[in-house]
Amino acid sequence: MEITYPFAKVFTDNTNKLNVFFLHDTQHTTFEQIGDIGNGIVDFCELDFTKVLDKIKSSSTITVSEQNFENIKKIFWNAVDLLKDKHSYVHFFLNSEILRTFYASQKTKVEMVDYLIFLFHYYANLQKTYSDALEMSLNKEVLTEYTLAERYMMFCNLTPTFTHHMLRSMYGIAPISYGKFDTSKLIAFDDPKDVDTRKVLQNIHRDSNYEVSMWQYFAIQSLEEMLYLEFMEMIKRGILVKRCALCDKLFVLADKRKRDYCDRIYKNNRTCKQVGAKMKFNKSVGEDKFLQEFQRIYNRMYSRYYRIDAWDSECETNKLSEKEFREWSALASKLRLDYKAGSINGDEMIDALSKSTEY
Ligand SMILES: [Zn+2]
Repeated sequence: MEITYPFAKVFTDNTNKLNVFFLHDTQHTTFEQIGDIGNGIVDFCELDFTKVLDKIKSSSTITVSEQNFENIKKIFWNAVDLLKDKHSYVHFFLNSEILRTFYASQKTKVEMVDYLIFLFHYYANLQKTYSDALEMSLNKEVLTEYTLAERYMMFCNLTPTFTHHMLRSMYGIAPISYGKFDTSKLIAFDDPKDVDTRKVLQNIHRDSNYEVSMWQYFAIQSLEEMLYLEFMEMIKRGILVKRCALCDKLFVLADKRKRDYCDRIYKNNRTCKQVGAKMKFNKSVGEDKFLQEFQRIYNRMYSRYYRIDAWDSECETNKLSEKEFREWSALASKLRLDYKAGSINGDEMIDALSKSTEY
């Protein structure tokens, strides 16, 4: 399938960063190193789409006509602008999809509007899929008895569409030396005619082990492809996530250091890490018997939902539906959050949790 602008070229290397060229059009390219791998997914799952969807809703009540089409377009531009600077790449790709739909598709005006309404809802729903993907495949505090590979397989069994993704890969010359992308060798230019190609190539090859420093990259055109690529790199590298001991949100464990708190602002401009370090009663799961008990109950309910018993046998008893599990899980998360924040004590948390599992 042909690639149309805007799109991104993504080079992976042996660091935990993604090297991304955003090609806005034939003339304009920006380069960014996005890291650490995993943050893009976690941040995506937390993006608030409510206002965006509200704005878009207003377009669905207007009958599309020649006269009001410019106004309808504006609704979509305004909606996507709400996501500007909120995420490392979501705005770029959603903006691109709108551009392509309005200016490079064969769709009728009505189809364009319908498609974009569908698209924004699709991405809002994809947050749920990726939250599940992270929790199930990469949070080591749940499903403790399974290896990461087993857990990834279980996630794929539950979400068969996930394994159907395809990414386009191409080759290009890139300044990668010793397995690392060398940003100091990138050049910015306004006019390709001004570039001394020979010099640029010499510079790239100066410390390359290859005759031609040719690297495979991914040509990424949609947000969905980008999320998939980043998630696969997490799986491949075994980059784990964890729930913050204070705010209960997922964060990426970028290295092997033991961490219990995230870097989000908790209150008064202080991060969970700063606040958490001062709060003695906020022990990690390993040291806290109430959180351990919480985890045990949580794992049991998780297994009932994901029917992990069926992984080993044909047993299907006690299965929870997705709706039941989500309702339960929302309640459980709230209890854990209240406990971590100190508004209920450990016994109260476990009591309420045990009662809630009786269905
Ligand atoms: Zn936190």
